[in-house]
Amino acid sequence: MPERLLLGPGPSNSHPSVLEALSLPPIGHLDPFYVSLMGEVQELLRYVWQTDNRLTLPMSGTGSAAMEATIANSVEPGDTVLVAIKGYFGHRLADMASRYQAKVETINRPWGEVFSLEELETAIVKYRPTILAIVHAETSTGVCQPMEGIGDLCRKYDCLLLLDTVTSLGGVPLFLDSWKVDLAYSCTQKGLSCPPGLGPFTMSSRAEKKLANRKGKVPNWYLDVSLLNKYWGSDRVYHHTAPVNMNFGIREALRLLAEEGLQNAWDRHRLNAENLWTGLEKLGLELHVSEDLRLPTLTTVKIPEGVDGKAFSLHLLNKYGIEIGGGLGDLAGKVWRIGLMGYNSNSENVERVLNVFESELPNFRESIVSAA
Ligand SMILES: *Cc1c(COP(=O)(O)O)cnc(C)c1O
Repeated sequence: MPERLLLGPGPSNSHPSVLEALSLPPIGHLDPFYVSLMGEVQELLRYVWQTDNRLTLPMSGTGSAAMEATIANSVEPGDTVLVAIKGYFGHRLADMASRYQAKVETINRPWGEVFSLEELETAIVKYRPTILAIVHAETSTGVCQPMEGIGDLCRKYDCLLLLDTVTSLGGVPLFLDSWKVDLAYSCTQKGLSCPPGLGPFTMSSRAEKKLANRKGKVPNWYLDVSLLNKYWGSDRVYHHTAPVNMNFGIREALRLLAEEGLQNAWDRHRLNAENLWTGLEKLGLELHVSEDLRLPTLTTVKIPEGVDGKAFSLHLLNKYGIEIGGGLGDLAGKVWRIGLMGYNSNSENVERVLNVFESELPNFRESIVSAA
C-alpha cells in the first residue's frame, strides 16, 4: 500500500497506537474483558460529546449508519422532520428521513453559509416539526453552524434536535447537553484518528421517551437501539457479533483524546487551522467561508481561475502522496477541501501542505496560461 498523508475530508490518518490496538487478536464479544471495554468506550464517548446520555454507543458501520440510526429510532411514519440544509450532508438527512416515511420539510442556505436563529424559528413556527435536523460541521462547505439558542428553540416548540457531529467530534467545541441536543452521531475516521468502521450514536432521555412510546417497531432491525441496548446495557444479550477490533481501536482513539484533554485538542485544531488559513492567503489564495464561520477541521479553498483543480490534487497524490479533496455538489470544481483532523492536525502537516501549494501551484497556473 502506498504511504499517504490524508488531508482531505476523511478518512484522516490513524494514530499509530490505534493501529496497534486494531491489530490485537480478537476476543469474544461476550468476554468479561470485552464487556468492560465496552463500558469504557461508552463513558469516553460521553466525555468527548459532553453528555450524560444513557444511550450512547458506537453503531457497527460508518457515520452514515449512525446517521440512519438517529432517524430510524426517532422518526415515526407521518412525523414532520424539518431539515435545515446548507450542504451535501443536509440533503442526505432529508433523503433518509423520507425513506422512514417522514413528512420532510426543508429550508436552505447557500453552500458556505449558516442559519440564523430567526430563520430557524420562522421555519419551526411554519412547519411545527417533530424533529429539527441540522449539520454542525458541514464537511462539504467548511462551515460550522453556531449552536447558541437552537436547543432552547426546539424545547420552546416541543421538537427534538438532531445534530450531525461527524466532522466536529474531537476537533471542534461540542457540548451536547448544554446545547440541548437530543440525537447525535459521528464517525471514527475524521476527528478520532481511527479507521472508518464505527459510528458513535447518542440519544437523550427526551428522545428515548419518544422511542418508548412509538406505535410500531423501529423499521430497521440492525440499528434498533432498543435491541442494541440489550447488549450494550446490563443484559448483555447477543444482537450481532460486535466488530471487536474496531472497538479496540475506538477505545484507544478516545483514550488518546481524553489524555490530551478536550480543550487542548480543540485549541490544537484551531491553531493549526489558523496557520493554514494565513499561509494559504499569503500564497494569494481565497478561502470560501468567512472567517467567523470556518471549521478548524476542514478548510475550503477556492480553485483559482484557469487551474484544473482535479489535475492539481491528482498531482499532489502521485508526486507527494498527499491527498486533498475536491468540491461536492454545488461546490464541485470550485474548491479544494483540506482536512486537518485528529492526529493529522499538527504544524508539520500545515507546513507540508503549504509548501506543496507554493512550489506546485504556479506550474499549474503557468501551464494554463502558456496553453492559452
Ligand atoms: C463523512 C460525513 C458523514 C458520513 O459518514 P461516513 O462515515 O462517510 O458514512 C456524514 N455527515 C458528515 C457531515 C460527514 O462529513
